[in-house]
Amino acid sequence: MFPQTVFPDTALVDPHGQLVIGGCNTLELAEEYGTPVYILDEATLRARCRSFLQEFQQRYSATTVDYAAKAYINPALARIFQEEGLGLDVVSGGELAIAQSVGFPLEKVTFHGNNKSREELAQAVEHGVGIVAVDSFYELDLLDRIAADARKVQEILIRVSPGVDPHTHVHTTTGILDTKFGFSIQTGHAAEAVRRAVAASNLKLLGLHFHLGSPIFELEPYRLAIDLVLRFAAGLREEGLELEMFSPGGGFAIAYTRDEEPPAIGDYAEAIVSTMTSTCDELGMAQPRLIIEPGRSIIGPAGVALYRIGAIKDIPGVRKYVSVDGGMGDNIRPALYQAVYEVVPAGKMDQDPTEKVTIAGKYCESGDLLASDIMLPEMEAGDVLAIPAVGAYCPSMASNYNLNPRPPIVLVNNGQSRLIRRRESYQDMMLCDVV
Ligand SMILES: *Cc1c(COP(=O)(O)O)cnc(C)c1O
Repeated sequence: MFPQTVFPDTALVDPHGQLVIGGCNTLELAEEYGTPVYILDEATLRARCRSFLQEFQQRYSATTVDYAAKAYINPALARIFQEEGLGLDVVSGGELAIAQSVGFPLEKVTFHGNNKSREELAQAVEHGVGIVAVDSFYELDLLDRIAADARKVQEILIRVSPGVDPHTHVHTTTGILDTKFGFSIQTGHAAEAVRRAVAASNLKLLGLHFHLGSPIFELEPYRLAIDLVLRFAAGLREEGLELEMFSPGGGFAIAYTRDEEPPAIGDYAEAIVSTMTSTCDELGMAQPRLIIEPGRSIIGPAGVALYRIGAIKDIPGVRKYVSVDGGMGDNIRPALYQAVYEVVPAGKMDQDPTEKVTIAGKYCESGDLLASDIMLPEMEAGDVLAIPAVGAYCPSMASNYNLNPRPPIVLVNNGQSRLIRRRESYQDMMLCDVV
């Protein structure tokens, strides 16, 4: 059975049992661009942007949707997000440089991160980044001085850690007490940060931000944290905190496997907007502008990786390893987070699964497995495998481990394909080396 829910909207199986995405045959894409290759379905990508805007703005018109660039960004994609009316969240000078390279309006950019450097903050202030989400006392002082030197007043949010567990992987949990991110509300650090920000002469405090982690399959952590942070804000009104802006971050889940059913975008919107508006009403606070920061949930479902099978090793009674030409260098998530993916035979979609196999990458690590103990039809060298839901945190976390070139990225739409990042060459990988 074709697991449609984890594939892009346009994915289908043609009469020859071959996988088609965006009107393009995946075997032909694998032939034309080589493997491994990452395919992004433009229709799905744009539809996700529009859904976020629509679902939130129809419930609460003063909502801004910022795409979290760390999920994956490059210049062509930055253009698409701009066309769709999204803002951008960046977490480094590098991501900011991508935005600048295509003339993305920097007043629509927010700069996040727990340890932004002096150079990065200066780059942000100098070029007019809209908002800096301040994450530490060190940064608060540094940014105030940088803004003073530039004779500017920088608008900021204070990132707080509300102490709410979103029940996701420990490596992607960010809003609990024991975290490197934000100012803890529990310890009193968040209140102290607000006081210092209000007093800083070259900073203008617009409001509060938090981000619980990712992916969050439940609505309750959002409700709990929003309620808690708004009550915290209400308690600081006397100290000069006017909550003009409020962001509960991103972290919205997507389906990676056929049996996962994450909440719909509208469900997240309903939970967030209704909690925010009712709590503000109860506390007698004006309704702030709402900022939503989806990353994974926008680009994740649009991506499909194509690999070609090489060596197959059957260890009788133990395991059958099917090796592909990519692996942890282009998708570190199974090794890093024990992430589980669906794998389908792109050219044999009409055949019944008959064998239990493990999909191994080509990297020199035993942990380089893309999927364990999955069912496939009988596969042979040269066959193409497709892994869906890889648009987020795969190309963006890709490395040159073992000096394998990172794969190309191809945008597909209406039967047309377009390279938006070419495959790296050996020369590219040696570009920074000095002999
Ligand atoms: C990573 C991050 C996001 C996006 O998270 P997703 O799970 O990709 O939606 C949003 N806001 C902040 C501050 C982040 O660090």
